[in-house]
Amino acid sequence: MGVSFNGRTNVSKTLYSRSSRDAPAVTNQQLVEKLIFDKVLVTPRIIKAFKAIDRKDFVLPGDEDRAYEDRPLSIGYGATISQPTTVAIMLEKLQPELGDKILEIGTGSGYLTALLAKIIGGKGKVFSIERISELKGLAEFNLRKYNFRNAALFVGDGKAGLAGYAPFDGIISSASGDEMPESWETQLKIGGRIVAPIGDSLVVLDKASKKRFKEVKYPGFIFVPLR
Ligand code: SAH
Repeated sequence: MGVSFNGRTNVSKTLYSRSSRDAPAVTNQQLVEKLIFDKVLVTPRIIKAFKAIDRKDFVLPGDEDRAYEDRPLSIGYGATISQPTTVAIMLEKLQPELGDKILEIGTGSGYLTALLAKIIGGKGKVFSIERISELKGLAEFNLRKYNFRNAALFVGDGKAGLAGYAPFDGIISSASGDEMPESWETQLKIGGRIVAPIGDSLVVLDKASKKRFKEVKYPGFIFVPLR
């Protein structure tokens, strides 16, 4: 399962609505417009990435017609492709920059991996770690539709991070643990940021110095467990 945002009511519409704001998005462009209208997407380079990466390329075969709905979808193995609103909120909090080195935990479908790779550009690099090897395979298959040379996928326990590639400018997790793994704090550059769910909150942690961190919590999310 992915991360989903339950901060607004998500009543399914049974009546046809003429308003494009109410009707479910049927193109990637419409999905992006909805996220902009809802003010969850605001940063131009993040918006650009959402336009360039088609969510349809990351859902399972048969789910293409639901790809632009603002909800998580199963990708098997108990995992989901995260809800677009949640992905947008997390990226807006992380604010990845061109050239950044990012550690991602919980690759899943590879959707967030692709968005990160697009945002940080060819001089940056995404290191993404997934616990389930079949899902790493799925993400590899999905990412092949784009020609990223700046995304590397790994199978393993993301709780340990990837010490061999540290330090990172940013760390982002799609799975929720009981506490922030110490390895992430250690493997983060000073001045870097971690965006990760802890319990049912999204936590933003800034590393001010080797030992000093500033933490802000945003409650109201539903998460997949970090196992
Ligand atoms: N951003 C992904 C979300 C996938 S769901 C997407 O949108 O597709 C979260 C993922 O975290 C699942 O694939 C799950 O297998 C993975 N996960 C859970 N615990 C993990 C761990 N300890 N290490 C690495 N990945 C983990």
